[in-house]
Amino acid sequence: MDHRGRQQRVQDSLSTHRLDALLVTHPANLRYLCGFTGSSGALLLAGTKSVFITDGRYTEQARAEVRTAQIVIARQGPLAAATAAWLSAQQKKGRQARSKIGIESEHMTVAARSHIARMLPSGFGLREAPALVEQVRMVKEEEEIACLRSAVLLGASLFDRALEVIRPGVRETAVAAEMEYAGRTAGAQAMSFETIIASGERSALPHGRASQAAIPGQGFVVCDFGVILSGYCSDMTRTVYVGHPSAEARGVYQAVNQAQQAAVDAVRPGISVSEVDRAARKSLQRSGLAKYFTHSTGHGVGLEIHEAPRLAAGQKEILQPGMVITIEPGVYVPGKWGVRIEDMVVVTEHGCEVLTPTTKELVAI
Ligand code: ZN
Ligand code: ZN
Repeated sequence: MDHRGRQQRVQDSLSTHRLDALLVTHPANLRYLCGFTGSSGALLLAGTKSVFITDGRYTEQARAEVRTAQIVIARQGPLAAATAAWLSAQQKKGRQARSKIGIESEHMTVAARSHIARMLPSGFGLREAPALVEQVRMVKEEEEIACLRSAVLLGASLFDRALEVIRPGVRETAVAAEMEYAGRTAGAQAMSFETIIASGERSALPHGRASQAAIPGQGFVVCDFGVILSGYCSDMTRTVYVGHPSAEARGVYQAVNQAQQAAVDAVRPGISVSEVDRAARKSLQRSGLAKYFTHSTGHGVGLEIHEAPRLAAGQKEILQPGMVITIEPGVYVPGKWGVRIEDMVVVTEHGCEVLTPTTKELVAI
């Protein structure tokens, strides 16, 4: 992974935002920028200089993982040590007035922010930086896409296990447990998020985590799951039917399937994410089901399960080759049923490639 190049891209964006330095603390951003996979550290990016600060618990790990930043093992907390290091460097350079350090406001507690602010003498300022690292992370490198491909394939294999264990009377948690066991056995570091198995009326809950409910004799089962492999997340949803699906059930499923395909077909470089969202909604309008599609059409995936961009109305991000996103429209009729189909796709030069290998035909169990 080209950590140095990534740091450079973030450093290049600092002056645009009138920042002298950026204090990176979000673990996924630390991993992305310098390879550190521990949970406590701070990376100070200033000009062309990168300093990684962690505490004594991570001495060995930092030496093994961090190759592209100076490593400092601090006695105090990494945040305070990073701020102190920045201050002393600025003072050495004789730069006092109007120096600004950026913080990742989406990822910092109010207490930590106050702590840093109290350390700064007059003339030095703290600024809530926009999501600069997340911006760079949106477009994946070849190596990252390869990692995501592997995660998607391993994740998809868990669906085979789901098909073996989903039966009337089996608890949703038991289905999730079997899938997760298969994933870990096959080498997954963890699940990307809590496995969603939502059966019967519960399938109308878009985020119905597996409960102790038994799978009924008849109805949809929404399965939404993913694994983490080499740090990268997979995410997919398939909805199966237990029993014999009625014409109405088949119709709802086909409507979602068509909306998902319409959104996939809309993905290409140069169009805005809101256009992809619109393609899915327009398709559902034809069957009168658009009002039951109550969440956004998708999201970026990478080191984190939910990353930029978000595919929703009003979002202005433009798709670029190398972005990896999910396409996941759904229809949820409260008290009755729900259907969602989700694939991961990578934006290519002329369109997109669907990474998820699994069939989207309705499977009846
Ligand atoms: Zn999902
Ligand atoms: Zn998703």
